[in-house]
Amino acid sequence: MTPGSSPKQSVSPDDSDEKHQPAGLPEGFVERLSEILAIPDLEPALGSFGAPRNVAFRVNTLVAKVEEVVEELVAAGLELCPVSWLESAFTVSAHDRELLLDSRPHREGRIYVQNLSSMIPPLSLDAQPGEEILDLAAAPGSKTHQMACAMRNTGRITAVEVVRARYYKLRDNMERLGADCVRPFFQDGTRTWRHRPEFFDRVLLDAPCSSEGRFRSDTPETTRYWSTRKVSEMSRKQRRLLYSAIRCLKPGGSLVYSTCSFSPEENEMVVHKLLAKFAGAVRVAPVPLEHPQFRKGLTSWRGREFDDSISMTRRIIPDATMDGFFVCRLE
Ligand code: SAM
Repeated sequence: MTPGSSPKQSVSPDDSDEKHQPAGLPEGFVERLSEILAIPDLEPALGSFGAPRNVAFRVNTLVAKVEEVVEELVAAGLELCPVSWLESAFTVSAHDRELLLDSRPHREGRIYVQNLSSMIPPLSLDAQPGEEILDLAAAPGSKTHQMACAMRNTGRITAVEVVRARYYKLRDNMERLGADCVRPFFQDGTRTWRHRPEFFDRVLLDAPCSSEGRFRSDTPETTRYWSTRKVSEMSRKQRRLLYSAIRCLKPGGSLVYSTCSFSPEENEMVVHKLLAKFAGAVRVAPVPLEHPQFRKGLTSWRGREFDDSISMTRRIIPDATMDGFFVCRLE
């Protein structure tokens, strides 16, 4: 058994109530988390919901050079920590958040603030210059923009969003950041495959989710709408979007499915059902990146067994810098 893959390694609900129930997190959530994470990961993960989180950003390489922006931010008094796996990414301590947000590079759209975990799905998709890319749940466009940078603004990214206000935000962001290769669409992504079946080289589905990975115990708005019913509702939505995403993909193409949730119903179970529905046509591929916060996807949950290949998916355990996330690459 691997860490993070065995419900048997979880602490009992009694232990969890006694030792780990931090204020500000929904009780049912903490109990579930104790069944999802391995014991050594549980306490640091719970602690991270209440601790200040460092701030990560990417340089907008469509309009700026990394060295010049770094020089400017350092001159403004910021201490930058480079990110070893993405040349254009850096972090600053939580203490320096306001200084970073007030800086000229941020005000002028030459940097984009984005959690480090959120940078993993586009890196896993590895969009190449000149390709046809679909981003099926795109607003506000953090990952769309990251892919536009990787593609050096060549090829085309079709970016779909169904909530009107969020669609406008996506469109404005792409314009402001100079992401000219992006074509935003106001559309229900569950229907996109009808317009563009088997059309795209690569598809990103960063699905709407219960956002458990972004809970903050001092910010009630982040946890207010959580319930197990919400998790089930999200799981159904995610399945419909993922089936559409798969049907949009050219034969031989790649897809990345991600959420910022811990619930297996929104992650491994969605992938398991996809593999059953499209048997033989879709397989799980390794996430082409390793990180100390990564854990293998679960192969069972509350008595349900999942396809063995799902252990190639990755869960990101939250810490002082990273939000909780789930990433799966499919081919
Ligand atoms: N990928 C985005 C980013 O990195 O900036 C974040 C995406 S957020 C997790 C999920 C988005 O999917 C939300 O903006 C939500 O409004 C949108 N969404 C929900 N249902 C959708 C649907 N049926 N079709 C398209 N977008 C949808």
